[in-house]
Order: sequence, then structure tokens, then C-alpha cells
Amino acid sequence: RRKWNRMVGVLGEFEEGCSTSIGRLRQVVDAMDVEMHAGLASEGGSKLKMLLTFIDNLPNGNEKGNYYALDLGGTNFRILRLQLGDERSMILRHDVEQPIPPALMTSTSEDLFDFIASSLEQFVEREANSSDLPLVKRRELGFTFSFPVKQTSVSSGILIKWTKGFSIEDMVGKDVAECLQQAMIKRGLDMRVAALRKDEALKFNLNLVKAIEEITIHVYVNDTVGTLALGHYHDEDTVAAVIIGTGTNACYVERTDAIIKCQGLLTNSGGMVVNMEWGNFWSSHLPRTSYDVDLDTDSPNPNDQARGFEKMISGMYLGDIVRRVILSMSHELDIFGDVASSLLVPFILRTPLMAVMHEDDSPDLREVARILKDTLKIPDVPLKVRKLIVKVCDVVTRRAARLAAAGIVGILKKIGRDGSSGIMSGRTKNGGESSGKMRRTVVAIEGGLYVRYSMFREYLNEAVAEILGEEIAPHVILRVSEDGSGIGAALLAASHSSPS
Ligand code: ADP
Repeated sequence: RRKWNRMVGVLGEFEEGCSTSIGRLRQVVDAMDVEMHAGLASEGGSKLKMLLTFIDNLPNGNEKGNYYALDLGGTNFRILRLQLGDERSMILRHDVEQPIPPALMTSTSEDLFDFIASSLEQFVEREANSSDLPLVKRRELGFTFSFPVKQTSVSSGILIKWTKGFSIEDMVGKDVAECLQQAMIKRGLDMRVAALRKDEALKFNLNLVKAIEEITIHVYVNDTVGTLALGHYHDEDTVAAVIIGTGTNACYVERTDAIIKCQGLLTNSGGMVVNMEWGNFWSSHLPRTSYDVDLDTDSPNPNDQARGFEKMISGMYLGDIVRRVILSMSHELDIFGDVASSLLVPFILRTPLMAVMHEDDSPDLREVARILKDTLKIPDVPLKVRKLIVKVCDVVTRRAARLAAAGIVGILKKIGRDGSSGIMSGRTKNGGESSGKMRRTVVAIEGGLYVRYSMFREYLNEAVAEILGEEIAPHVILRVSEDGSGIGAALLAASHSSPS
């Protein structure tokens, strides 16, 4: 009995440490807003990098024609062609996805880009035989490269660092366009990078190249930016995009005059998409427990607070926070005994399994018992302990979802769409009756955690509404926008292509 009480105590203490009261969430909203300002004010001014993307022209549904996308962002590499027609009709015509050979992830930039170029070459060759493609000499292509890149134009940028298991040292600090360009020239694919200076372009176009086709790489796209583009293609009130999957990130449309660190930016629309890299967000208001501190210490990049926000909210980590709490509870109760050594293995409990336990609605928590037995090698856990474990999952997911919600409202606050600026900014579509009318605001959202974990989604939606309040909440719509990193890049190639 005493042991039981102590175990319940461990859970109670954890739950208290994870508190996301509305007051706490409002502090996180404000901190996000403040950090966004700081990251826009100067380079390195905040943990939020607030990277410029040079994208100002989001697709609006009027695009037509065939566009391509290359998508390199994780374990797979994908090439696709998108055919756009009237009234937002979109057909995914040709879509090839293949795993990146793991050896290439830690090889040289030359090897990696040669693989990409050769895949593109095969794609083009196969397409040449396709009957539905009108004869085109020029192909417009968007390139999703979902790693932190410091861009200098819409189609050039320097790799800041690798993430997600990639580590190709010679590539850090290099221009990604240049690497791709060189690889394609070697393969005899004639491509043109839109932002390259003319003399360089001429140099690259020497007759050495057997000019099969001309491919214009138009844009670099981060996956969140692709999600925003896809959202905006379907709904022009889309102002921001959030991804919550293995990792997490967000981007939004900022006014160029608010981007203080880059004076004199001019775009046609007066706005530019900013890639926040919000996984790095940190604030003392984040409810951090000893389990989070330990997870950070044990992570491959042990650095106090590094990607602190991401470690509290993304799929890579949630399961492991749960494992750590169960481990701590197990110290109090013999039931886990010494058979529980699996509990010591980091990341053994993956987030999708944690979700299954959380959402187990069988009266005897059969799924929980199964996962404890099969994955953590703890058989015969009594029902009342299983119930506590479901509670642990709930606490971890609820905190994650509510913090993500506060982050989203932080973005809305920064751009005056949270209703707090008093004037309820903006005009209605037809230009009239602007005062007192809250403008419709859409946030595109995707990622396995939000899309496939319904408890997470419900907590997040609920918290956004709770923070905004009942007057503002109905004007803010979270809309799932799946497959933005592929399709969104092709759409951006379309909206940035010069009219032919
Ligand atoms: P990416 O790896 O590019 O972020 P996704 O957006 O599909 O890809 O997210 C995958 C992540 O989402 C997984 O790593 C996992 O953490 C989480 N996830 C996937 N399915 C589920 C699920 N059913 N329940 C909870 N989390 C899930």
C-alpha cells in the first residue's frame, strides 16, 4: 500500500510539473511573440532563427501547367510531376519515391547529389515516353530541402547544418544549388538555377553539356513552406503552417518591413515567408520536468535547452518521456521487478505505440498490457497500474499539444490575428466593414502526430480555442494540408515561374 502511494506520488508530481494552465499558456504565447521579434531584429538575436525564404508569391489556385518537385527531407527522396488545371484541379501525374541509401547520408556531397541527379535523369527519361505530357522544353522544378538553410535568394542558400541523421561534413557552408548544379552538369542534364548570375549561367551552359532538357530549379522550399504553399493554394486566407511529426517546425507570412535584420527587402506583395525553425524555441515558462532534463542530457546533442520546444512536443520524443516516467514509477513497485531492463533502453517505446496505449478503450486495457509485455517486457501488470500508465501518456500528450497550441497562437499574435490588438485588424474581402470584424485566418497543419494521433489533435484544437477565447476562436481555422513538402514545392515552382 505504501509503495502504491509512492508510485501514485511519482505520477502526481510529474503531472504537476507538466501543468499547462491557461495562464501558463498565455505566458508561452507572449514568449513566442517576443522571441519572434528578437529573431527578426538581428542575426542570432533569438534561439528562433527566423530564416528568410525569399518566397513572397504563394500559389493561389490560378496556376496552370506541369511542374516538378524534388523532395529531400528525411529518409526518402521523391520526384514528382504535378499537373494543374482549371478551378484548382490538381493531378499528381508521376511520382517516384525511393529510400536514400543510408551510406549516402554520411558520405560526401558529391555522392549524395550524384544520386539525386541520376534519379532525376531517370525520371526525365522515363517521362519522355509518357503520352500525357505535352512537349515542353523547359521544366520548372521546386526543390524541397528540409534542413536549415540560410538563403540568399529564392533559389540559393547555404546549408547551416545537417539534421535527421544526415552528416556530410564537406557540405556544411556550401551552396545547395551549386552542389546540385554541378552534379547535373556531370550527368549531362542542362539545368538553370534562376538566381545564378548570368555569366555563371553561361559558363555552366557550355556545349560540353549534352542539353537533354532545360530544367529550371526555381525555389528551395523547406517542408513547412511547402505545407503553407499547399494550404494557400486551396485557401488564400492561409497565413502560417505548422508541422508536428517526428520533429516540429513552423513558418508564416511576415511583412518585409518587420524583418529588421534585413533592411530594404522588397517584394511585390510586401510580405515574405519566414521559416521559424521553432523546434529551437525556448522559454523559462515552458513547464519542464526532471524527465525532460534527463532526456536532454541523454540525447545525441546534449546541450541544455537545445531544441527544447521540439523535445517537449514532437513524435521523436514523447514516447521516451513516457518511458522515463514509467521507469521512475517502477522503482516504487516490485511488480516491474528486475525483468524490466527493457525499460532502460532509450527510445524503445515509440510514440505511435504510446498513442495506442493512450487510446486503448477496452475495459481491461488489453492493448496497454500487450505493449507492456511485448515492447517493455513487463508481463502481468495489474489493471490499476495500467490505468496509471494511460494517465502518464495523457499527461505527456496533453502538455505537448497545448504547448504547440500556444506556439501557434504566438504566431497569430505576432501578425495581429489573435484578436489582442484591439482593432481586430484587417479588412473584409470586399473591402468594406473592416472595423470590428475579425479577419478569417487559416493555419495549415500537418505531420503524423497531428494527423494520426487523435487525442493529440483534440487537445491541440481545444487549447487553441481556449487561448483565443470564444469570440476570436471561430475565425481561426486549423486545416490539415497533407503532402505539402512534395506538392507544395511544385506549386511554388508554378507561382514563381515566369509566365511563358
Ligand atoms: P516525418 O518523419 O517527416 O515528420 P510524419 O509527419 O508522418 O513524418 O510524422 C511521423 C511521426 O509521427 C512519427 O515519427 C511518429 O512519432 C508520429 N506518429 C505517426 N503515427 C502516429 C500515431 N498513430 N500516433 C502517434 N504518433 C504517430
